Amino acid sequence: MNRYDYIIVGSGIAGLYTALLAREQGSVLVITKGSIEDCNTRHAQGGIAAAIGQDDSPDLHFKDTLAAGDGLCDEAAVRILVDEAPARIAELVNFGVPFDTLNGRIALTLEAAHSVPRILHAGGDATGEHIEVTLSRRVRAAKIPVLEDSQATEILVEKNAVSGIKVLDCHTGSTETFKCRHLILATGGAGQLFKFNTNSDIATGDGIALAFKAGAEIIDMEFFQFHPTALHLPGVTPFLISEAVRGEGGILRNASGHKFMSNYTPQGDLAPRDVVARSILYEMEKTGTDRVYLDVTHLSPYVITTRFPHIYRFCLDHGLDITREPVPVAPAAHYMMGGVKTNTWGETSVSGLFATGETACTGVHGANRLASNSMLEVVVFSKRIMDITAKGAESVSSSVPKRQETHHKLPARKARKSFPASSLASLQQLAWNNIGVIRDGGGLTGAADILAAWQHKLPPPTDRPSHELQNLALTGRLIAEAALLREESRGAHFRSDFPEKSPERQRHIVFTT
Ligand SMILES: Cc1cc2nc3c(=O)[nH]c(=O)nc-3n(C[C@H](O)[C@H](O)[C@H](O)COP(=O)(O)OP(=O)(O)OC[C@H]3O[C@@H](n4cnc5c(N)ncnc54)[C@H](O)[C@@H]3O)c2cc1C
Repeated sequence: MNRYDYIIVGSGIAGLYTALLAREQGSVLVITKGSIEDCNTRHAQGGIAAAIGQDDSPDLHFKDTLAAGDGLCDEAAVRILVDEAPARIAELVNFGVPFDTLNGRIALTLEAAHSVPRILHAGGDATGEHIEVTLSRRVRAAKIPVLEDSQATEILVEKNAVSGIKVLDCHTGSTETFKCRHLILATGGAGQLFKFNTNSDIATGDGIALAFKAGAEIIDMEFFQFHPTALHLPGVTPFLISEAVRGEGGILRNASGHKFMSNYTPQGDLAPRDVVARSILYEMEKTGTDRVYLDVTHLSPYVITTRFPHIYRFCLDHGLDITREPVPVAPAAHYMMGGVKTNTWGETSVSGLFATGETACTGVHGANRLASNSMLEVVVFSKRIMDITAKGAESVSSSVPKRQETHHKLPARKARKSFPASSLASLQQLAWNNIGVIRDGGGLTGAADILAAWQHKLPPPTDRPSHELQNLALTGRLIAEAALLREESRGAHFRSDFPEKSPERQRHIVFTT
């Protein structure tokens, strides 16, 4: 049996970028459960943050990132993120990513909670698509083998070190085992846990579940970012209306057409995502509606159609001309800040197992992610995985300081007499109601009980949907248990029964098997 130097699970920006670097160092296999371009990356709109502007500096980017992270960012990791950003952006340019330019220089825009314009974008609001297409072309040109429609279902561990991965062929249902020296999880997020979400179908928490079962530490799961403005039209799956729309001057209005954000926060429409998402929910409750409106009709149609061509076209295709009518929006689950715990070299607590991208938790986002830092995190920390593995070091974990952490096992939960039948729809409804934007102890306990019951009752998975349902149930359970333990409100985690931040809880919650 072939033993690869690197097996990379996932083909979003994290998987493809890492594969392009890894092929310089040895044999590489990419495994992905859909087609190569099925991922969240393709849907990223706003862009990628980096302090490359004249009025900007890594120090300013560092300050903004820490402010968003609300006391839980790993400062050493953030320092690396902001300092190494310009070099990684130059590499993306070399790979051929066509960032938009203005007067011969890369164009930069402002997004909420950034103190200066620092977001690079491509094709206006089609940044992710340009990145994904550019990288996937490069991977094909480099003849890196990519196994499509192949779902990783189990990490194989021998003598406390990763030895390979079990993979399901999603067409035939057969399984195969592949051996490797380094296994890199680049499996993305878990937005599909929630009824309303902006994520692609692939975002089912597979990497979290695989790593947890292999014994890796999972951290910060209570922090899930809800995007305040997803298109809310009947019969249309929520579609992200980028933060950059408010950055360019978009105004949130309630059903009566009144601006309302300044009633909730002095930062108004440009407040951090969690503040805007909660304010919208309160405003919806106050006005008895299921949506508010994002108004750009005061901007010139030229600005709207050139800066947001993708959003403009998507809305127009659904009968809405945003140059003339406000956009109906509501919050939706968007980004998982927690994940498989890594150090600043992408190493997890299991030897030979690495994680990068949304499935990883490097510590840069803390309790809340600064917009457009996620694709930056991918390129910065994927490069570091390559740097450390090139040195041949099996592990450097001991040289990396631990974060302030409390360690937990999933608690035993008493069996419930009755609970709803398990299905993707009932799971998504449960998560939206009980572990969504606004949480409380009763709802979280109810969700944890039901999810624990489902974990016991679900039959052994045999195909992609059943594996995904099982992975989502475990990921949801980790979120619910962590959210129950965090009896305070911080960053993206809000408890109506503990609405204040508590200084004693400025530490991370870690789960292991
Ligand atoms: C609508 C939207 C807009 C966004 N806008 C921005 C933005 O402007 N700027 C920004 O920085 N971030 C943005 N984000 C977040 C950002 O896009 C993601 O965090 C980032 O692209 C994640 O990259 P990734 O490679 O880790 O995951 P993904 O791109 O989601 O890729 C995950 C890959 O893993 C594969 N996979 C998963 N499980 C398995 C398995 N078991 N076996 C095999 N393969 C598997 C998937 O098929 C997929 O190929 C946005 C996200 C969304 C959804």
